[in-house]
Amino acid sequence: MIYFDNSATTKIEDSVLKTYNVASQEYFGNPSSLHKLGLKAFELVETSRKKIAQLMGFKPHEVFFTSGGTEGNNWIIKGTAFKKREFGKRIITSSVEHPSVINSMRQLEQLGYDVTYLPVDKDGHVSVEDLKNALRDDTILVSIMAVNNEIGSIEPIKEIAKVLKDYPSVSFHVDGTQAIGKGLEDQFIDPRVDFYTFSGHKFHAPRGIGFIYMKEGKQIEPLMAGGGQEKGLRSGTENTPAIAAMARALRLLKENEAKKSAEMMKLKTMLVEHLNTLDNVHVFSKLADGFAPHIICFTIDGVRGETIVHTFEDRDIFISTTSACSSKKGLESSTLKAMNTQESIATSAVRVSLDENNTEAEMKEFIKNLDEIHDHFQILN
Ligand code: PMP
Repeated sequence: MIYFDNSATTKIEDSVLKTYNVASQEYFGNPSSLHKLGLKAFELVETSRKKIAQLMGFKPHEVFFTSGGTEGNNWIIKGTAFKKREFGKRIITSSVEHPSVINSMRQLEQLGYDVTYLPVDKDGHVSVEDLKNALRDDTILVSIMAVNNEIGSIEPIKEIAKVLKDYPSVSFHVDGTQAIGKGLEDQFIDPRVDFYTFSGHKFHAPRGIGFIYMKEGKQIEPLMAGGGQEKGLRSGTENTPAIAAMARALRLLKENEAKKSAEMMKLKTMLVEHLNTLDNVHVFSKLADGFAPHIICFTIDGVRGETIVHTFEDRDIFISTTSACSSKKGLESSTLKAMNTQESIATSAVRVSLDENNTEAEMKEFIKNLDEIHDHFQILN
């Protein structure tokens, strides 16, 4: 089996699963309980928070646990909008965000907020000039992703941060879900950013766990009302085993991050250079600055993306159409649409997404199968 669908989700790592199991059995107390089992679980949650903060360069009290990227994005965006409604109702985002951002924005529009969706160029990048032009006195939030989940474009977070230094009252949120652990931190971790979203299952932690960064002093409204966990901001009994497992997964992710990212880039280069030699193929993920090392989006023109995915699946190779989130719903790729890609080409798009465990041998095998599949469809065309 070749698993090249890591941006949809990753396989849980063995020792991470072990941590999860041990924590489930030995730290099962409710962290809010007063007895020693509660205290033991509480301490595990807090140690994990400290480890995660340290690995990310954050302070422990800036880390809040969530159920994943979707919750993180919903919480930061709506929580900020509700908190700041007296100051303004203007928000800026991009037209290539994940549905958890775009649909949160749509809900806010229904409540009277005014959202600007910045366009992107043919490579999926927003323009900092467009952002500058969209900023108003009553803008309360800018939310831009670090790495696009469909084509791997890296948005200019550092340059946006520079612009926003002149607008200190504007909150700046970055969805870092696809960027974490890919050797890209110098491109998206910036002191001007107020909020980040991250999701555990994208880096070999279990499903249903994630964390957000909320800069010291920033305030948002809670979306989850209840017993007041997470300093009263995110109620619900803490997912102790998943939190401990995520801390371990993050530590493993961060070990030799630069080397692992260079390896992924090597595999990406092999594939993209090969794709560039084939007829009737479009490659959206460039070998250039501004693109992440792990996502390669391409087409075999004239063949539907689903057909390509299933043809690879028949050979025990797993890839996806442009994003797992929209593929089953038959939605067209929102990123390719925003890039003004012709619809007949966009419907042929597929995504290969790598992780640090993929090998050169797997990529060679993938390319061999790609050639056969490509030839097959050229003959049919
Ligand atoms: N943001 C981005 C950029 C993503 O790729 C995803 C996952 N597809 C999410 C948010 C949502 O994360 P989760 O699956 O943890 O809800």
